[in-house]
Formats: sequence, structure tokens, C-alpha cells
Amino acid sequence: MRSISILGATGSVGEQTLDLVRRNGEEWKVVALTAHSNVAALAAMAREFDAEVAVIADETRLDELRAALAGSGIEAAGGRAALCEAASRPVDMTVAAIVGCAGLGPVMAAIEQGGTIALANKEALVSAGEVMTEAVKRHGATLLPVDSEHNAIFQCLSGNRIEDVRSITLTASGGPLRLVENLDAVTPEQAIAHPNWDMGAKISVDSATMFNKGLELIEAHHLFPVGLDRIRIVVHPQSVIHSMVEYRDGSTLAQLGPSDMRVPIASCLAWPLRMDTPMAPLDLAAIGELSFFAPDEVRFPATRLAREAAQAGGAAPAILNAANEIAVAAFLERKIAFSRIPLLVERVLSEGQLPDPPRTLEEVLGVDGSARKRANELLELA
Ligand code: NDP
Ligand code: MG
Repeated sequence: MRSISILGATGSVGEQTLDLVRRNGEEWKVVALTAHSNVAALAAMAREFDAEVAVIADETRLDELRAALAGSGIEAAGGRAALCEAASRPVDMTVAAIVGCAGLGPVMAAIEQGGTIALANKEALVSAGEVMTEAVKRHGATLLPVDSEHNAIFQCLSGNRIEDVRSITLTASGGPLRLVENLDAVTPEQAIAHPNWDMGAKISVDSATMFNKGLELIEAHHLFPVGLDRIRIVVHPQSVIHSMVEYRDGSTLAQLGPSDMRVPIASCLAWPLRMDTPMAPLDLAAIGELSFFAPDEVRFPATRLAREAAQAGGAAPAILNAANEIAVAAFLERKIAFSRIPLLVERVLSEGQLPDPPRTLEEVLGVDGSARKRANELLELA
């Protein structure tokens, strides 16, 4: 029996992880489940999986959680410190599925236990960069990528040497707005309606702006150290090939699969073995054609901004991520137009001198906090 904690259990990735745990129930002991504010879903999950502890990050909801768990014997906790404490309980596998830099502290607490972390929370790695990868090495932790592209690359690298890689190609669906002419008029509903994947609101908007691919470029740069100039992006609207690795002998390995996050999540849960998922076999004859295009960085500047931030290194990726989180939230609240998201990010990134490269978790959170503050100020000025 292996133990598992799921940070962000009530989200899209969290729920799909629990779906797999449910199907392979007898193999897992659930330790911590966490949410931000969704008390009802968290309490129901904690009861179903007989979790050791349920944590609600929004402390004002703790009494509600306590009431919902009364008589269950499940510990109820609330607030950011409790979230990190729960994440630091030793387990075989932590699934990091909180959205945004809010997940960074809990992920770092899990890394310090030296266990295996299945990382969906790309914003945490983008913001912390080397601070996280060095902590992984120092504590002997294992980082497995849940993000479908990085999971594909991880699988394609298996049995090969990173020195033999000529290039890595991240595929991008191009999102729901690839062919939409007027990006100014895009509504949150349109931006969230992803053609191939069913995901949380923030990553859905990121897919529409292509910031998701930009964040993934930085994520890949940290997970697979082949050099930024060897990481490419190609638009592949069918989302069948999840990414590719090209080797020095001219071989390119690709991973294919249905557009269902349970496939990469299962690959992490069972690693280095395999487990069953309820997916139907891939029917390439029914899919018919796979197509590929170069990304349009004029209409969708996010990947260019992310590459520039990765090249600048240090604090730049954390600033890019923080500004994007603020811009996406403002767009979802209908405070700014869709096309202003990359403009706001570029503005925050290009102002003044970059702060010193952060070396600790606290310094990363400091950079993140300042960039959020500046992005909010710019929103108010407009
Ligand atoms: P969701 O919005 O569906 O879920 C987010 C989860 O995090 C929820 O459990 C939510 O709790 C919790 N949460 C939100 N804000 C906070 C906070 N401030 N503090 C603590 N917990 C918080 O997101 P997704 O599942 O779509 O995405 C999760 C991560 O995985 C993201 O980083 C995303 O980029 C990445 N990812 C997602 C994919 C997908 O298919 N969804 C694919 C690849 C990567 P509550 O429910 O209470 O709000
Ligand atoms: Mg992805």
C-alpha cells in the first residue's frame, strides 16, 4: 500500500487523480487532501477516501469544514501554514495540483520530505526555477511531470541520455482562439471553451493566450536541461502527439495518447511501472490527419515573452508568471480585454531593472508579491 497526498484535490487535476485512486483504491492510503474554498467537495472527498487530514486554505472556512467532517475522525485544518504542514507529512507520492504561485510553499514543503512529487502546478516551478530544482536535488526528492507535454518528453527520454538530445518539441493545440479574428472582443466564456481539454479556468485562459505554452517552455527548460535554444514549439491542433524528443542520430520519439489528463497522471502514479486507465484505445484511422503549424507570435506574443524571460533568467520568470496571474484574474472578472493580458505582462516585465535573482523560497515569494502589486497598480491606472 502506498500513501498519497493531493494538493488542490478539488480542482480538475485533483479530481482526475482521485478518479484513478478510486479505480485502484486498495493500493493507496490517502493522507492529505487540500482545497482553497470548496468546503463541500473537500469534505466529501475526505470522507470517501478516509483521508488523514483535510485542509482548507481559506481559513475563514475552517469552521464550516470542521462541521462538515464532524464525527468522521478526519482532522480538519485551515490556512496557509496548515497547508504547508499537511504537505510536509511524509508520503510516497504528492500530487501538486494547486493553481498558481499559491502552490509554491506547499510544493517546497513536500520536496523537503524527499518523496516523489507529481507536479501539475507549473506556475510554482516557473516562479521558483533553480530554487526548486536545487531543493529537489538537496533533499533527494523525485519530480515527475504531470503536464501532458512534459510527461510525454519524460517518457521519450526514458532509456536515453540527455546529452544525446538534439531538440525537444512541445506541441500546442493553439487554443480555442487560434482562428478567431478579433481578439479584443473575446469573452471569458469563449476563452475557457478549450477544443481538446477540459481544465480549470486559469489554465484554459492561458491556453487561449498561449501563456500556457510560454510557462511550459520555462517548465521544460528547468526539467530537461538541454538549453533553451533547443526547445521548440509547434502548433498541433489535434493534441494527439503530446510532445517529441529528437536525438543526435536523427531519430525523433513522440508520445501519443487521448487528450485526457488521466493518462499523464496515471503515468506518474504508477511510475516506473504502468497502470490501467479507462481510456479507449487511440484510433488513428478515425482521427485521420495530424497537422502542424509554426506558432503565430505576432497575434499571440506570450511564447516570445516567456522565452525572453527565460533567457533573462533570475527573477524574470517569476515576474512574468505573477503579472499573468493578475491579468488572467482581471480578464475573468471582465475588468480587462483579452488582448490586454500579454500587454500587461510585457509592461510589468519591461519596467525598471530586474531584481536580484531570488535564492530562497522567501525571495521568490517577495518577487512574486512585488510583481503582483505592480500589475494591480497598472490595472488601476488604466
Ligand atoms: P483548478 O482551478 O481546476 O483547481 C485548482 C485547485 O487548487 C483547486 O483544488 C483549488 O481549490 C485549489 N486552489 C486554488 N487557489 C488556491 C490557493 N490560493 N491556495 C490553495 N489552493 C488553491 O485548476 P487545474 O486542476 O486546472 O490546474 C491545477 C494546476 O495544474 C495548474 O497549475 C495548471 O496549470 C496545471 N495543469 C492543469 C491541467 C488540466 O488539465 N487541468 C493540465 C496540465 C497542467 P478550490 O476548488 O477550493 O478553489
Ligand atoms: Mg500542458
